[in-house]
Amino acid sequence: MGNIIKVQKGTKDILPSEVELWHFMEQKALEVFSYAGYSEIRTPIFEATELFARGVGDTTDIVNKEMYTFEKSERSITLRPENTAGVVRAFIEHGMHRLSAPVKLWYKGPMFRYERPQAGRQRQFHQVGIEMFGIEQPTADAEAIAIAVRYLNSLGLDDLDIEINSLGCPKCREEFKDKLKEVIKPHLNNLCEDCQNRFEKNPLRLLDCKVESCKEIYAIPEIQAVIQNDFICEECAEHFETLKMYLDNLGINYSVNKLLVRGLDYYNRTVFEIKSNNLGSQNAVCGGGRYDSLVKNLGGTDTPAVGFAMGMERLFSLIEDKQNTKLTAYVVSTNIEETIKLIAELRNNGISADFDMTNKKFTKQMEKAAKLAEYALILGDDEILNNQISIKDLNTSTQKTINRNDLLVFLNQIKQAKHN
Ligand code: ATP
Ligand code: MG
Repeated sequence: MGNIIKVQKGTKDILPSEVELWHFMEQKALEVFSYAGYSEIRTPIFEATELFARGVGDTTDIVNKEMYTFEKSERSITLRPENTAGVVRAFIEHGMHRLSAPVKLWYKGPMFRYERPQAGRQRQFHQVGIEMFGIEQPTADAEAIAIAVRYLNSLGLDDLDIEINSLGCPKCREEFKDKLKEVIKPHLNNLCEDCQNRFEKNPLRLLDCKVESCKEIYAIPEIQAVIQNDFICEECAEHFETLKMYLDNLGINYSVNKLLVRGLDYYNRTVFEIKSNNLGSQNAVCGGGRYDSLVKNLGGTDTPAVGFAMGMERLFSLIEDKQNTKLTAYVVSTNIEETIKLIAELRNNGISADFDMTNKKFTKQMEKAAKLAEYALILGDDEILNNQISIKDLNTSTQKTINRNDLLVFLNQIKQAKHN
């Protein structure tokens, strides 16, 4: 036997035992997003490298360190590290600005970033997200946050920390950047290499640094005073206040985090992040915000926009222990003809069911049922003779015998109860 080829570092197979939960996450996305008027868009997994350099920003970690880029026919191509740039490209290319606003799109799919793999951090991972185009009012920001929360709730996740911030607009932000640089400059030599590089190009990103010694510097009172002192202009402040009022009205709990700047260059005004209290250090499940200048920067008609992306692997690990991948029914019988008929009837009626094909003894079949299903449907000689069926609840081990004709009604009730 030759060398065994293994899966690439930072990538994973999604196994049959896990895939049901992925379907669940995708199904809930379709449900929650389409109820709010979003349509799905599927863009290619690779795009021109330039799209990300211009779209995500060439001062970001994503573009500088994390992209999978290769040459083909003298073209530079990149596996998408995120999907906002791709969706914006499609929006422009298909003239979607001519559609009546808002244009609401959602997506799901794999993304690629060359980073150090660890729990909750892969090189191929999946995101689900929305983008809404054409609305400059904070109503859109509030809707995006509300939908993110509704989607997470639909997965059974409610222990959430929602952080919001306003980055201001290009106008007021310039002033802030200048002030920030002024107070940080004396400490420049003590900052990490990344921060030193970002100091000129993108000083806001300094606030995002995870290095302890940098964090200490940014906590110095003099620097904090600049960070905490509201720099945003009147219009931006009003936008932010209105958003907060909408969130209050919706009963959504949030906190304002003035250090929240997010890793991508395209944001202005609202940024937000949602963390789950059940995850370890990689606890951010959702990041988003407003990006009013991106469509224009990528060559389209000036169109305001807001959106978010969620990491599906992180969602998966949060709901993993809640999963129920069991069949509804396992038929236990030594009468194979009756069994085959019953199985067909169950499956035709949308009830998941299986049976033993190898004619094992009754007790062996019961063991299999306990492993695979929620209910054992027992068809013994007596039951068949009396047109009955015995149902054993494999969770509680209680058993009852009912009329064969009532079986589907009974199972459908169970199915309904499970979905509520
Ligand atoms: P982080 O600070 O954790 O690197 P980020 O700011 O790079 O996150 P975004 O680009 O905003 O993340 O992506 C949105 C979400 O996608 C994140 O909140 C996270 O749940 C998920 N995500 C990002 N990178 C990865 C990755 N390498 N592996 C798995 N999930 C990821
Ligand atoms: Mg990252």
